[in-house]
Amino acid sequence: MTVTVRFAPSPTGRIHIGNARTALFNWLFAQKHRGRFIQRFDDTDVARSKQEYADSILYDLHWLGIFQDATEYQSKRFDHYDAAVERLKAAGVLYPCYETPEELDLRRKVRRTRGLPPVYGREALALTSAQIAEYEGDGRRPHWRFLLPNFVSDPLEPMRTEIRWNDLVRGEETVDLASVSDPVLVREDGTYLYTLPSVVDDIDMGISHVIRGDDHVTNTGVQIALFQALGAVPPGFGHHNLLTTVSGEGLSKRTGALSIQGLREDGIEAMAVASLAVLIGTSESVHAMPTMAELADHFDPAATSKSAAKFDPDELLVLNRALLHHMAFADARDRLGALGIGGERAEPFWNAVRGNLDRLSDAAQWWKIVNEGPQETSELSDEDRDFVRIAFDLLPEDPWDAGVWKAWTAKVRKMTERKGKALFMPLRLALTGLSSGPELADLLPLMGREGTLARRP
Ligand code: GLU
Repeated sequence: MTVTVRFAPSPTGRIHIGNARTALFNWLFAQKHRGRFIQRFDDTDVARSKQEYADSILYDLHWLGIFQDATEYQSKRFDHYDAAVERLKAAGVLYPCYETPEELDLRRKVRRTRGLPPVYGREALALTSAQIAEYEGDGRRPHWRFLLPNFVSDPLEPMRTEIRWNDLVRGEETVDLASVSDPVLVREDGTYLYTLPSVVDDIDMGISHVIRGDDHVTNTGVQIALFQALGAVPPGFGHHNLLTTVSGEGLSKRTGALSIQGLREDGIEAMAVASLAVLIGTSESVHAMPTMAELADHFDPAATSKSAAKFDPDELLVLNRALLHHMAFADARDRLGALGIGGERAEPFWNAVRGNLDRLSDAAQWWKIVNEGPQETSELSDEDRDFVRIAFDLLPEDPWDAGVWKAWTAKVRKMTERKGKALFMPLRLALTGLSSGPELADLLPLMGREGTLARRP
């Protein structure tokens, strides 16, 4: 069996790191099993879905390193859902209901006071054709419910009916079909809720594993029954824990919280986002994986905890630094070029500064310092200024090599008897304008003798 997974967001906003977690779980699962990854846009809600959001989701996924084998839109597949509706009706497992939301609400309350579970009582099954004609005459349109197979012969006498599956993440799972209402599959206006199109697509697209957030666990019980009603073998399922903010709130596409776009624009590396999105809330320690292949090696859905995982954006910066510190020039070259950092000094420059960067774009500031001199004026005491002047007079002659800093400071130490911080700090301030930064031994050859002399106070 070819492993085939899908990531199925509704294109109603930009995706956030929690959505990326679902996408990555699917992607890495497919990678591990040499399977296929299908992008499905759940856009049956045509009023709220927008192509621009679908495009932005594709852009964000590509940025993260996720590439689809196929892209499908539910809005182009209504005829498949209509056909499934006809099959379910013909099988007698899709029935019309005429209750208004207020009537349903009242019924739920009554059931509660009677100590019954607040599920739909299937009253519509008892409607006579005269009653139906009356509703229709009043202009009421039906919504359609799927009759869950939780009874022996009388649907009005449901009984405990366990649907079981071995969840890729959570292990043995059970949903009792008597504890849930017959789901509405089609609304009064003929539009589809998510349940039926999702199952029809999973069947048609040969989905072998459905991997999604654990807010769908109960849906899975219902969906397995629907797969069976449509004559299909249900796929495997995996439900990962959800991410929350540090204060425990859920992430929402609508609020734009921690959108992938926002993180990208903030200079966070794609692999920092991917590493955290995948490893947080698992028994693996969270550390920066430089490539998707390495992340795949550390990915184990069964190592995911069942409780929600708190997501702290500050952790992203820690991972970002770690990735930049080890990033090879070849992997940074193009983006450095876009910042105006090029030529033959670009590689030694990158190797000199990468250990001091929070974000790759911070390199631009160091490029300026190296080429133009300090960008901030540093206050040197009179004594330090005199020391720096003497030191500059001792600068070795050209040509300079990688050992120039060592040779220079040895000479300065000997002549001035300064050492340690008293020696380095005034030189660092004079050369860069800052009290910390990359090794001066690496920066000095990049500045060159002329450039260095121009910084003489
Ligand atoms: N559109 C659904 C959602 O975003 C898909 C759930 C699923 O993967 O089945 O919740």
